[in-house]
Amino acid sequence: MSFIRTLDADISTEQLGFTYSHEHIVCRPAYWAERGADDLLLDDPEKSKLDVLDFKHHGGQAIVDATAIDYGRDVPAVHQIMQETGIRIIGTAGFNKSFLWDAAVKEELKPIIGDYKTYYEWIEAKSINELTDFVIREVEEGLEGTPYKAGQVKFGTGYNRISPLEEKTLRAVARAHHETKAPIHSHTEAGTMAIEQIELLKSENIDLSFLSLGHMDRNPDPYYHEQIAKTGAFLSFDGIAKIKYAPESTRIALILDLVRKGYEDQILISGDTARKTYYKHYDYGLGLEYIIAKWVPRFVDEADKEGFDGQKLVEKFFVTNPANCFAFKK
Ligand SMILES: [Zn+2]
Repeated sequence: MSFIRTLDADISTEQLGFTYSHEHIVCRPAYWAERGADDLLLDDPEKSKLDVLDFKHHGGQAIVDATAIDYGRDVPAVHQIMQETGIRIIGTAGFNKSFLWDAAVKEELKPIIGDYKTYYEWIEAKSINELTDFVIREVEEGLEGTPYKAGQVKFGTGYNRISPLEEKTLRAVARAHHETKAPIHSHTEAGTMAIEQIELLKSENIDLSFLSLGHMDRNPDPYYHEQIAKTGAFLSFDGIAKIKYAPESTRIALILDLVRKGYEDQILISGDTARKTYYKHYDYGLGLEYIIAKWVPRFVDEADKEGFDGQKLVEKFFVTNPANCFAFKK
């Protein structure tokens, strides 16, 4: 049996539809708030909702909210946006990269995780099995004590390094996967350490078809991508529109290279729009509509010119592949 877990309902894989695989909708990350980085706070649910509605008006149907507990999630606000827009939202249990843990724990979370000053102290104090139990509760009971459940489990690692505490969260997430069958998502910093993450997950006996690796396009290296694809994992190209990292031509070439090598069933696409200046209704950015309204037509045009069926690939990257990737397969 196979299903997808949105915040408030389990649905069939056919019901998911056109999906962005890695976004942030409402969050107030303590790490950035403490450093005065206001651009990184998506703190106005009304504005976030307007961008979600733009996505819907262009035919979008579902969004994976990749925000974990250590990034200032607002679960009730995101659920309300899901209800008011009709866009299905998948929530995320687990953890981010350790870089962000040196920040004050939100007061409201203390009854749930304990009286720790920082996320770092919390993760350091708990055993792997205690963290595993916490992740399982977020999938089976609800996120942060709400009734809204996670549809994937996440861990993250740093730039060209995996710290001991990151490895601890990776193992906790892997064990929570075995218990729940929730799909696994990983944060890679600038696309690094994917192979090392995979080796550690193998040591936890993870079937890699349950794994999607985020930010693969930050490391625009076709050979590296092929090594990852060979393991059966999904590669998330979620930096669409981030020209500061690479032009669209680079990302499209990487994607078509994987398609040419036979890995079109393992590609996910999204924008990781985690700044006010990326959102249209916060600060005049390209917005959540950009990929579906502007990038997709360009991709189809380029793919067709190179002899592929661009529309068929779009259907895979945004519908079929997310339905396979985000399924709980019991
Ligand atoms: Zn993200």
